[in-house]
Amino acid sequence: VTKGCNNKVLFVNLTSGSINEEPIPEEIYRNFVGGVGLGVRILYERMKPGVDPLGPDNMLGFVTGILTGTKVPATSRYTVVSKSPLTGTWGDANSGGYFGPMLKATGYDAVFFTGISPKPVYLLLYDNKVELRDATELWGKDTVETREILHEELGDPTVSTSCIGPAGESLSLLASIHTDRAHAAGRSGLGAVMGSKRLKAIAVKGSQSVDVANGALLKDVRGMYLRRLDIFRPENALAKLLRQFGTCGFTSIFLTSGVTPIKNWGLAGAEAFPSHAKIDGANITKYQVKKIACSGCPIACKGLVTVEKGPYAVSMADKPEYETIAGFGAMCLNDDIESIIKINDICNRYGIDTVSAGTAIAFAMECYERGIIGKEQTDGIELTWGNAPAIIAMLEKMVKREGFGALLADGVQRAAEKIGGGANEYAIHIHGEEPAYHDGRALPARGTAYLADATPGRHTSWWAGAQSQAGAPFAPYPELRVSPEEVYFVGPCYTQGCASFGLCFSAFFAGNFPLIEFVGAVTGWDFDVKEALTIGHRVQTLRQAFNNREGLRPEDFELPQRMAAPPSAGPLTGLSVDFKTLRGKYYEQMGWDAQGVPSDQTLAQLGLKELVAERGK
Ligand code: SF4
Repeated sequence: VTKGCNNKVLFVNLTSGSINEEPIPEEIYRNFVGGVGLGVRILYERMKPGVDPLGPDNMLGFVTGILTGTKVPATSRYTVVSKSPLTGTWGDANSGGYFGPMLKATGYDAVFFTGISPKPVYLLLYDNKVELRDATELWGKDTVETREILHEELGDPTVSTSCIGPAGESLSLLASIHTDRAHAAGRSGLGAVMGSKRLKAIAVKGSQSVDVANGALLKDVRGMYLRRLDIFRPENALAKLLRQFGTCGFTSIFLTSGVTPIKNWGLAGAEAFPSHAKIDGANITKYQVKKIACSGCPIACKGLVTVEKGPYAVSMADKPEYETIAGFGAMCLNDDIESIIKINDICNRYGIDTVSAGTAIAFAMECYERGIIGKEQTDGIELTWGNAPAIIAMLEKMVKREGFGALLADGVQRAAEKIGGGANEYAIHIHGEEPAYHDGRALPARGTAYLADATPGRHTSWWAGAQSQAGAPFAPYPELRVSPEEVYFVGPCYTQGCASFGLCFSAFFAGNFPLIEFVGAVTGWDFDVKEALTIGHRVQTLRQAFNNREGLRPEDFELPQRMAAPPSAGPLTGLSVDFKTLRGKYYEQMGWDAQGVPSDQTLAQLGLKELVAERGK
């Protein structure tokens, strides 16, 4: 058996109601680990290409990492995996909170769903009890209410939950999945997959501890890491910022350096948004009433905020992340911080991804400004830039699928097709997914990931590569201090390797997370950096093979002109990056051909040849 995990997973067929547990062989853990790695291994084998993402044959998995639930700090993440209904590509999104460790403590490493339930249900995993329960009364409730009702029904406020809100129920392709309070698996529209299965929630609580190979060594490595993480050390300045403010602490830095897109990706830089300081992290933190953290995380970047009075009054809401502030602030020229706190609360309660939703509103504002739509289409809402009440009014229509909001609820690509009149020129997306708010020209590895990763438009999938290009070390290993060219292999591979173990990418900010030592202590494996990269290479190659099998080719993925051409104003003026050439370099370094298809030699080297041959290429 593999130490650090339970060596078994659950399969739930929602059509028939059958629940089966299956053992996972040691070899699969060693090669794919957990999280996104175990997720793609299982879905690639058990799914056929071409399934309807919202149909019964799509699978939806909630998968923990091997380090999750152990004493290793910042490893509470679990990954949701499925075929994305937003992009038709491989889909994954990960979330922190307590759900991952609690799922692991029930004795299972993951749970996978297929089929469609005849009525709304939730899955209860309570130590040895595993059952599907009626969720008719929960259907229509928001994510906060759902959690509260489950706590009451189960008589236990320590049960951890993962659930959808009304946006997921109405199959908004931007719907997210919400964990406990303040955590979301936001991207790829996976909340709609959960809604299509009529699966309202999963409630978990377990009391089993995870067996590790060498507890004494783990204690020593942990002590060493916590001493190294000391946020008063100058090398940990980014971690200190994160601890003080959360990701919103990066807002002014990103905005003034031109990383943050402004006015629907039309502008950049402080001059384009002179009142930007009003939405900075320091300002948001004034509203913080409680600091919170994911399970076992010493960084503790999260918080709850309260706006006491006024039109945006809200109590104990999640503190907005950088992405939310950029989306509903800079992208919409909105400097009203209290409105952004309220907007974040609406998105979280209804269960919609704040990145995609922010772009959808900014897109509608630009269409309004250019006369492509008018008040007749917007149900009377004056969608002018910076108009916070109008943003909220349209967002509420979007999450409830009402009027013009129903168009926006499935993302800008589909909305532009329906609006017509040249609206597609202002629809910022890559193969249907709205990109995160980091201009790829500032850090080309990130822009290349938007175009080349199996989940398009994502800022987290090559995190280590972008951080390396920013000049900030992401790991304490000399083998990873690579040239700007090699970043196109090391960046995605190390990132996917870490994600498979359950590590939070924010831990990269401290730059000294001893992954190799932790893995050795937990699993007993003779583990090194080379193996971490090989695991990431394997996971990344199978994610790509999933897309290849769906018939997707490089020409299906394009960066919008506003993200690809040299900017004519702002801090990045004139910066020219040839993202398609960089994508070619990435393919080459990964051992894939010019069409992004892994060569037989690469598949053989990664031990994927038989799987891909059997299950289709
Ligand atoms: S850094 Fe923040 S998001 Fe990451 S595990 Fe810690 S508290 Fe959670």
